Amino acid sequence: MQAKFIVVTGSLMSGLGKGILVSSIMKILDMYGLKVLPIKFDGYLNFDCGTMNPYRHGEVFVLEDGSEVDMDFGTYERFLGKDLDRSSSITGGKIMSSIIEKERRGDFLGEDVQITPHLTGEIIKNIEDFADKKKVDVVVIEVGGTVGDLENGYFIEAMRQLSLKREVEFINLTYVPIISSVGEQKTKPSQIGLRLLMQAGIKPDLLVCRTQNPLLVKIKKKLAFFANLSEDRIISDEDLNNVYQLPLNLLKQNVDKILLADLGFKGYKLDKKKLQIWNSVANGDNENLRKKIKISIVGKYVDLKDSYVSVKEAVSHASHMLHVNPEINWVEATELTVEKDVSEKLKGSDGIIIPGGFGSRGIEGKILAIKYARENKIPLLGLCLGMQLMAVEFARDVCGIRDANSSEFNQKTKHKIIDLMSTQVNVKYMGGTMRLGAWKAKILSKDSIAYKAYRKQVVSERHRHRYELNNNFRKILEKNGLVISATTLDGKLVEMIEWKDSYGIGTQAHPELKSRPNSPAPLFLSFINAASKGKV
Ligand code: GLN
Repeated sequence: MQAKFIVVTGSLMSGLGKGILVSSIMKILDMYGLKVLPIKFDGYLNFDCGTMNPYRHGEVFVLEDGSEVDMDFGTYERFLGKDLDRSSSITGGKIMSSIIEKERRGDFLGEDVQITPHLTGEIIKNIEDFADKKKVDVVVIEVGGTVGDLENGYFIEAMRQLSLKREVEFINLTYVPIISSVGEQKTKPSQIGLRLLMQAGIKPDLLVCRTQNPLLVKIKKKLAFFANLSEDRIISDEDLNNVYQLPLNLLKQNVDKILLADLGFKGYKLDKKKLQIWNSVANGDNENLRKKIKISIVGKYVDLKDSYVSVKEAVSHASHMLHVNPEINWVEATELTVEKDVSEKLKGSDGIIIPGGFGSRGIEGKILAIKYARENKIPLLGLCLGMQLMAVEFARDVCGIRDANSSEFNQKTKHKIIDLMSTQVNVKYMGGTMRLGAWKAKILSKDSIAYKAYRKQVVSERHRHRYELNNNFRKILEKNGLVISATTLDGKLVEMIEWKDSYGIGTQAHPELKSRPNSPAPLFLSFINAASKGKV
């Protein structure tokens, strides 16, 4: 059977959780045994989001193949439990550069190259090729941005054209606000959003409404009237305890039955086992009955929690499995300037995480936090930049190399504990040139925290960084007691370091990117386990 398509658009504003909706729809279809994969369209002209600031755009997610993609891919992978690849990501930048390359090559000789049919045709070809190559039953396409944006107009037009030749289900996500003084759910913004979508030639088959509380029947009626839909096609997407509950909420409203019927899938049955597993992911035991642990995350993008979404999720997956209830204490690294700040802000922490990052802002605060964890024997997990700074702190405070630093932050220091590898020195293009994607590491001793966490000698995690631990300092760090517990398979690059006297591990990789609700990242499990020790 030819693949079918579900296109999800958003109205009115961003931040409504379109990625979570798309992931939930995929999860539901997966529970019915259908093979489903996503395509995400992002309208920006960047080729990918590797060059973007996470403070503005949220976390940059990295796939196994090293592509740097939108944070929604993290949600897709966590829900679907599958590794995705670069062919699921279409950006304005990619599509424009490929059309211009074709024009220069002479593919359109004699024609004037236009948004439609050329650009829209290119998009449709990409999507159909993807469906054929991946042999899927359904492709769920998330259109980034909101209907009416200049950036995604041509993409929405391509989706309209796609629906003329293929089976396409359109789902629109909208927002139903409550004016607090009146306490009433208001439909007018959604009506205007619908009008914009219909002007683009698209009539949604389902209208999903983000709201604070479940959608009232009279509001459903009203929206059904304006959307030319039956009431059962107006879906309530109210605030839930956690994102994993959305597929269950959609199932309760028969979204599964509507989608299967609309797309012509007959005879498919809901896999009860898969549903049960998901139920335990979404609900599990009562969090409030579990023992509480305080995990401090010392970062520099903490005002925008989306910047660290995978770290937060990985903490939650591991805690769920270990039946503890993590309270996350977000600490802004730039506010840690003297040791007194650190002991105040990190007081009572059962564990401290130093996540990844770029640029010098907040570096010294993170180093102070690492020192505090080491001296007070508080479990520490350093991720990428976090590992690099663990090495710098150790060099400064234990080895006595006062001006130890990373050349990313101080070019002039003699003691570049962290430095650029020779392969990076002459890199001129910043986009897509870091050490990216899945890399294998070998764990050097069975006695290490790393081995106890992974229980195997060769492990693979995703990377995204330019700098490495400088091999010239390996000896002095080791002589002073730092454990180098893993390297790349050829032994040339350090992958993990550890403290000897207390629990502290740093990894050059980003294990949070592969953490999934049912299979937490091993290093997060190990860290949360260490942080919960001695708690009642
Ligand atoms: N800025 C560091 C580097 O490029 C660390 C990157 C990161 O934490 N992802 O090596």
